[in-house]
Amino acid sequence: MTSAIKGLMQKKKFSVIEILQHAATWNGDVEVVTNSVEGGVHRIGYAKLYDRTSQLANALTGLDIKAGDCIGTMAWNTWRHLECWYGLSGIGAICHTLNPRLFPDQIEYIVNHAEDRFIFVDTSFVSVIANVLDRLPMLEGLVVMTDKEHMTDDMEKIGVPVYCYEELLGREECDFDWPLFNADTASSLCYTSGTTGNPKGVLYSHQSNLNHAMVTAHVDVMDLSARDSFLLIVPMFHANGWGLPHSIPMVGGKLVLPGPHMDGKSIYDIILAESCNKTCAVPTVMTVLLDHLDNNTLQIPSMTKIFIGGSAVPQSMIESFEEKYDAEVMHGWGMTETVVGTFNCSLPFMDELSFEERIKVRCKQGRPPFGLEMKIVDDEGNSLPHDGEAFGKLMVRGLRVVERYYKAEESALDSEGWFDTGDVSTIDKHGFMQITDRAKDIIKSGGEWISSVDIENTAVGHPEVQIAACLGVKHVKWEERPLLIVVKKEGCDPSKASILDIISSEHAKWQLPDDVVFIDEMPLTATGKIDKKPLRITYENYLMEA
Ligand code: AMP
Repeated sequence: MTSAIKGLMQKKKFSVIEILQHAATWNGDVEVVTNSVEGGVHRIGYAKLYDRTSQLANALTGLDIKAGDCIGTMAWNTWRHLECWYGLSGIGAICHTLNPRLFPDQIEYIVNHAEDRFIFVDTSFVSVIANVLDRLPMLEGLVVMTDKEHMTDDMEKIGVPVYCYEELLGREECDFDWPLFNADTASSLCYTSGTTGNPKGVLYSHQSNLNHAMVTAHVDVMDLSARDSFLLIVPMFHANGWGLPHSIPMVGGKLVLPGPHMDGKSIYDIILAESCNKTCAVPTVMTVLLDHLDNNTLQIPSMTKIFIGGSAVPQSMIESFEEKYDAEVMHGWGMTETVVGTFNCSLPFMDELSFEERIKVRCKQGRPPFGLEMKIVDDEGNSLPHDGEAFGKLMVRGLRVVERYYKAEESALDSEGWFDTGDVSTIDKHGFMQITDRAKDIIKSGGEWISSVDIENTAVGHPEVQIAACLGVKHVKWEERPLLIVVKKEGCDPSKASILDIISSEHAKWQLPDDVVFIDEMPLTATGKIDKKPLRITYENYLMEA
């Protein structure tokens, strides 16, 4: 019997700072452009950004921040935030991105759970931290991510030491002796949005970030290259910024950051000014851009690919971008626990399809790139066929998937290493996965299951519907029945009947919502997804009372 022998290739430790070093060396003049918090457009090349990150690393050492420390950031997508990503991970500390839109109790829980020693914070969010400061006993100080002119007196009286980011950097040298790390050294931390129970921390390693960055660059994932001008709308605090703050510098693409300017006009203006060819966001943000384009008869000729995920992308959105704006929508699925999971890519068989058939495929959440094993199972754990019909629990496994939550004693996996995503989906014969629903959102009506996602997608195809949420609410006879909650487009007044008509064109009669309720504003989660929790509380007994 022969035994395997070792390969004779170099062995090397790794740190994510090497991604930025590579960008600085080989694409040093390629710019990171930010619509800044202070106002005005800020531009910096990767070489200069790397120098500043080295200054930051020296400043961190000056604050006695060491390897293994958790340090929070609460910031928009800006060049300074990017420096923090690389500088903190680069010295071996953990860059913990905080979502400013969370409720104060959640922020308190997350900062204390992570034991953040310092928080790097944009001027816009100083008050968010100040609100809960007396409940953060372990916090030693804040670093406000601005220059001296934009520091205000009230910041300095906040109750913990407050430092000015630019002043800290200004005192430091541009070189730093960066350490390299073992494969699973922690690099960054992101908490799930915690729609049920407390948020849970996902602790990414230097290697998982590297693996992820390499994979997202693939043509059939985000197709990244040095020719890109990529507008990163997805917040750097949402699911590790979908990995893009690592993968775009890795390929030497131009990175365009919207800062706090997330309205339709600002997004449109920066796409035009920076000739952006790619962008990414959740559907609710893309609706803002689409409305701005539609209402002002504008075009975005440089834009070729728009990556949308985080919740299901309505068919009407894919059609609008393709037909009216000549931009291809790439639908993706992922979660904080996996970062990017699947992406919808074009396969040869799709060239033969009619427009309508092709759009149906493009509505699916896509195929897993290498390194993500995926299966659907029934309640007993048996694998279900890839026939596009059978639906079951979506399970994933691989080096880019969480093993256990931060500080959890138990693994998050089953005995064979699979992670239950909490989503229910189908997989078709071409390998395209389609989310049927979040397990907890599926509507169970008299033993039949109705996909809330499907109904919502059809409803937003109505030209006068802005956004729609479908809920299973209590019903005397059927246990649960669907109820549709709708926000009308500005200046429109669609009738209930016209909305139900559109739904009945695509769905069986028993799947039609029992009623349509109009509301003025849809509750959204901190990451911009529809928040069904408050809707459930308000409308739980709606049909019982009716
Ligand atoms: P988060 O960790 O906050 O990004 O939430 C992850 C969850 O968002 C997933 O488990 C899905 O339920 C949902 N999700 C993400 N992308 C999609 C998508 N393209 N379609 C439907 N649901 C999605």
